[in-house]
Amino acid sequence: MHESVKKELAAIVGPERATSRPEDLVAYSLDPHIEEHRPDLVLFAVTTEEVSAIMKVAFREEIPVTPRGSGTNLAGEVVPIMGGIVLALSRMDRILEIDPRNRIARVQPGVINYRFQQEVAKHGLMYAPHPSSWKVATIGGNVGTNSGGPRTLKYGVTRDYLLGLTAVLANGDVLKTGGKAIKNVTGYDLTRLICGSEGTLAVVTEITVRLIPKPKASRTIMANFPLLEDSSDAVAAIIGAGIVPSGLELMDKVVISAVEADARLGLPTDVEAILLVEVDGDPEGLDLQVRTIERILMENHSSRVLVSRTPEEADKLWTARRNAVSVMARLRPNTSLEDATVPVSNLTEMIRKTVEIGRKNNVQIGVLAHAGDGNLHPLVLFDQRDKDEVRRVEAATEEIFREALALGGTLSGEHGIGRAKARFLPMELDEVAMEVTKCIKKSVDPKGILNPGKFV
Ligand SMILES: Cc1cc2nc3c(=O)[nH]c(=O)nc-3n(C[C@H](O)[C@H](O)[C@H](O)COP(=O)(O)OP(=O)(O)OC[C@H]3O[C@@H](n4cnc5c(N)ncnc54)[C@H](O)[C@@H]3O)c2cc1C
Repeated sequence: MHESVKKELAAIVGPERATSRPEDLVAYSLDPHIEEHRPDLVLFAVTTEEVSAIMKVAFREEIPVTPRGSGTNLAGEVVPIMGGIVLALSRMDRILEIDPRNRIARVQPGVINYRFQQEVAKHGLMYAPHPSSWKVATIGGNVGTNSGGPRTLKYGVTRDYLLGLTAVLANGDVLKTGGKAIKNVTGYDLTRLICGSEGTLAVVTEITVRLIPKPKASRTIMANFPLLEDSSDAVAAIIGAGIVPSGLELMDKVVISAVEADARLGLPTDVEAILLVEVDGDPEGLDLQVRTIERILMENHSSRVLVSRTPEEADKLWTARRNAVSVMARLRPNTSLEDATVPVSNLTEMIRKTVEIGRKNNVQIGVLAHAGDGNLHPLVLFDQRDKDEVRRVEAATEEIFREALALGGTLSGEHGIGRAKARFLPMELDEVAMEVTKCIKKSVDPKGILNPGKFV
């Protein structure tokens, strides 16, 4: 990037919020994915006007722009693979409005999901989208990836809570979509189109969301299963009984053993699976639901069922699940957290196949799953410096995705495509779908400057 253009861009935000120091460029060259590439410039915008002015210059000069929240995505979505500008939205972090009467809120994209949840809870309300990374991830990043999380089964994903956006297009134009009305079917649903577009269509600078009443109570149940099949049968039976848990998570043997070796929580290492079930709602109705779930778990051959009596006990039961990714990540230098997703009835088969694929390719894989919605998280462990192992990991990953698609599933339930899965996209989208995707991209970003080198 020419020095004079760098100066022009830096002047938009001022010297405090622009950097091209090598150490800063390194920090903004990567995310949890293994690839990295340095940008030429990092800019921290704080207003829509600044974002628009930056995009106008970038458009004129055809400079790549990578919008970035907290950089926790797992698919290389914020690696500025073609250099240019990393546009950091993390300092646009104001909660602009919480309106309990209409149950809506307006936020800037850099607001951290957890902080937002704490604020709306003060009004007896809840913002349902809740990725496990909620203490770090931004609402803007959640919109960029259409984040899900453990509560998805009952409450849905980010897209289900979006009412409107302010977004800056590649040429600097400011687009407003939707609004505060809960019902709105005017025109194309541009809000939903931008959600999940991974920074390739627009830079989101304001987000209007729907809130719901915060459930008054919740209970957590942990169940051990000597056989994996029984745990998935239990998942199907719980859902079949008309119960919609707010969380239904599975950990396989590899993950259980790793967590137990690290944290000594007293988890059984001789079982094939542990299920965590959370239900929430009015306290009166919960006891009946818990009793029904306990019965179903026992009928499906759980060897032990533990029910939380207090929020502290529930928190303790969730510790294993919360620690799982970081514990697994410590076992080897690199971890790839995939998210192939299948119809829930095919969950057991998918887990079995994943374990088999790991064994066949001599690759270490543990499985976590948002079991209730068939969202598998194979944790693939490896050492990036070992080229042969990397090749085996790539082969295993491809096989996992092929298997998920063969079982009626998808490449990604919530993490997105980014860099990591771009090459697999044609396996899922046919020629027509690929063509429509490209046409949409071209119509709003004709020079291809927004997050280039990713899935489109
Ligand atoms: C331990 C761990 C657990 C996780 N658990 C979950 C989980 O349960 N569920 C889940 O869905 N994900 C999960 N994730 C993935 C990740 O945290 C989410 O995708 C999250 O929404 C990313 O937010 P972020 O602020 O880090 O966004 P980033 O990683 O910075 O960006 C993500 C994408 O959004 C785009 N983007 C960011 N801000 C904007 C903006 N303002 N305008 C336009 N585009 C933008 C970026 O260009 C990029 O394509 C997990 C990650 C980790 C590390």
